[in-house]
Amino acid sequence: SSKVVIIGAGIVGVNVADELVSRGWNDITVIEQGPLNMPGGSTSHAPGLVFQVNSSKTLTSFATYTVSKLLSLDCFNQVGGLEIATTLERLEDLKRKHGWASSLGIETRILGPEECRIKYPLLKEDGILGGLHIPSDGLALAAHSVQLLMERTRRAGVRYFGQTLVTGIQQANGRTTGVMTKGGLVFPADIVVSAAGFWGAKIGAMVGLPVPLLPMAHQYVKTTPVAAQAGKNSLPNGAQLPILRYQDKDLYYRELGDCFGIGYYGHDPKPVDVSTLGETPPVVTQQRMPSRLSFSATEFEPAWELTTDLLPALKNSYIADGFDGVLSFTPDGSPLIGQAPHIDGFWVAEAVWVTHSAGVARALAEILTNGRSELDLSSCDIARFEEAQLSECYIKNTASQDFVQVYDIVHPFRPRESPRGLRCSPFHERQKDLGAVFLETGGWERPEWFEANKELVAQLPSSWAPRDRDTWSSRHYSPVVAAEAYKTRTSAGLYDLTSSRRIEVAGPGAAEFLERLTTNAVSDLGKVVHTLLLDAMGGIRSDLTLSRLHEDYFQVGANSPIDLAYFTREAREQSKLSPRKFVSIKDITGGTCALGLWGPSALDIITSVTDDDLSNQALPPNGIKKIFIAGIAVLAINISWVGERGWELHTSAEFGRHVWDSLWKAGQTYDLVAAGRAAFYSLRLEKGVRLWGIDFTTEKDPFEAGLEHLVQPGKVEFVGHSAIQGRSRTSASSRLRSLTVDDGKSMILGNEPVYVDGRVVGYITTAAFGFSIGRPVALAYLPSAMKEGDAVDVEYFGRSVKATVTSDPVFDPENSRLQT
Ligand code: FAD
Repeated sequence: SSKVVIIGAGIVGVNVADELVSRGWNDITVIEQGPLNMPGGSTSHAPGLVFQVNSSKTLTSFATYTVSKLLSLDCFNQVGGLEIATTLERLEDLKRKHGWASSLGIETRILGPEECRIKYPLLKEDGILGGLHIPSDGLALAAHSVQLLMERTRRAGVRYFGQTLVTGIQQANGRTTGVMTKGGLVFPADIVVSAAGFWGAKIGAMVGLPVPLLPMAHQYVKTTPVAAQAGKNSLPNGAQLPILRYQDKDLYYRELGDCFGIGYYGHDPKPVDVSTLGETPPVVTQQRMPSRLSFSATEFEPAWELTTDLLPALKNSYIADGFDGVLSFTPDGSPLIGQAPHIDGFWVAEAVWVTHSAGVARALAEILTNGRSELDLSSCDIARFEEAQLSECYIKNTASQDFVQVYDIVHPFRPRESPRGLRCSPFHERQKDLGAVFLETGGWERPEWFEANKELVAQLPSSWAPRDRDTWSSRHYSPVVAAEAYKTRTSAGLYDLTSSRRIEVAGPGAAEFLERLTTNAVSDLGKVVHTLLLDAMGGIRSDLTLSRLHEDYFQVGANSPIDLAYFTREAREQSKLSPRKFVSIKDITGGTCALGLWGPSALDIITSVTDDDLSNQALPPNGIKKIFIAGIAVLAINISWVGERGWELHTSAEFGRHVWDSLWKAGQTYDLVAAGRAAFYSLRLEKGVRLWGIDFTTEKDPFEAGLEHLVQPGKVEFVGHSAIQGRSRTSASSRLRSLTVDDGKSMILGNEPVYVDGRVVGYITTAAFGFSIGRPVALAYLPSAMKEGDAVDVEYFGRSVKATVTSDPVFDPENSRLQT
């Protein structure tokens, strides 16, 4: 096996060692700056509350695995978890959480106020509206589990070096070769795993890798004994009551014998500069460790007041001990896992909670030993951030917001508050003039809808009139979306596609490179092809469009920066192995822009501003052509994501506004509207267009995702080819299917469980109102055996919404509208 050096003997580092050992790797060294019996990182004082349920399927799966592993080590006190609601909004949110849990197979129950008090008799009598009980949650003995795992892995040959500070990473030819330590000792390594917790950015800097985490101080206290608890727990850290979350006030609680541990997130964010922490002392105690900072009792006063109100039995107790513990926050609240994009062999597993620790370690060990993880890691990939999201000020700003919002009720479309206006397309000013309501994606401002289209709503035919929506699904939404969808189906819509990634793949090895990595036939000159990137096990990494502009030059439409990192690494490898077949990869998103012009009038509009023939005869579907629009060179791609005829139009950023203005002016005769992402989202769903990261991930193969038509029959020798041999639509146990909602109005938003006869059979990926068919439409993973017309129930905020499995796509299955 490879020579592995892990930096950090916290709960993550030690679990990584254990997971590698259990997969047969045996040349592993763990280096820790603190003493091994108590290293002094966040794990050393973690109170260990494990609440498993999260809107992210991946994080929840990390947590369930962590629980099972801690149970196997006898390091988990499964007292259950109770999340209480003191507002109606929270109660609704807990119902939503119950739905997520059900779709992931975790048993939970919504409790009434009395039941909450039965589970937790110390709760006050009034003001609790209900709660969510999760019987399998509980308390991790985090630090103890680390010691047990050290013992176990030592017996398997893992070498541990305590009080050894890592000071540098050796590299040669783009690979890590060793780890340097204070005192001059160098540990050779093929693979370095940085599991340095909140010190992660410091280690990353040693290889020039920005690690976007912010160390943050968080208040935690232990109370004096509580009289009502006397004699209840024999051990000082014993507990029988469920772990308790009072998220409306940013608080959580655990029993500690006859005392309580209380954590508070209600204070202002307190970023910590790790360079001020100094070196870990040779002897670490609970009172003296780098992750423990001094505590302000005044700052904790509101928390104490709220606590004695919630748990009156604590009124006669005091704070026995309090500290500000240091832990990591990230711009989007998810951990950082994966290989540094620019250097082989340097891996990261950081910003990981105890809750997710063993799950993260397992995923990383799976990638190292097997090339991929069972779970989709795209939401945790260290490569998921745009360059604009890696600056110190961006990280500080967004990770601080993450701290403030850690217990907030999060709407799936809630836009980031700041920084805003970071990346704007050349159409931005024009869009603002049209009353664009922008949401943020990857730093980009992307119009969701345009207020200028408001008056069109009243003119909609009755079958298109927007239905009333519940409060939750009305957020970040407007009835204007119906008008934009209608105009796209009846005249034309102009969509800003600038925030979609564009990558240039060029060089003598470009075609071979794309042929090797993708599932479809690489496009001929003058053609675009929609294709997939698979991993070695056949899971879908991404979907791409490949436009071949010259023999050795492709413009690739891709998804996240993870695609870019993958391409860059693979191109580096190819160029190294066969220099005459070198490939260059360049992200051109920033310097370019793109529009989608779609609708029955699109041809008339574009014909008014170009001399080029864009009829289907001259440029058939999937054709690409360099054209001139009002004198500007534009790449026109005859492809549609909304089911209407039209083109993606790409040009350099500096020409964007001129192209917009020309099309806009010409469009006025034809009822052209500017249309936003919300209309796009709805129209694409009617056409069954799947979106990467939501509708499909590495956890699904092309047959499960309903994307088998993107695998060219007979093509061999592409990544993932051998894995999908023998698989088919019929062999897939579950498939992504279209559903429509029976009553024609009840909204669902995504992530909800789907039931048949009271049993969970699958889950919704995405949903929207399908204006063209007059009812909500959704995609859901369902057992393959389910047939069109089968009835299902979708759980939305605890209510059952009746839906029916339908043909896919639900709108214009023959694509007749694209042929005209
Ligand atoms: P750490 O435990 O910090 O380990 C990293 C190790 O790397 C350290 O031991 C450090 O010494 C070592 N290291 C760093 N730099 C170097 C170097 N240059 N050379 C050698 N070694 C180095 N999580 C939950 O799930 N539930 C909770 O209830 C919970 N409560 C918390 C309460 C508080 C007050 C705090 C502070 C955290 C809490 N957390 C909780 C978070 C949790 O404790 C951490 O996320 C988790 O312990 C991180 O584990 P780790 O192994 O990544 O990091």
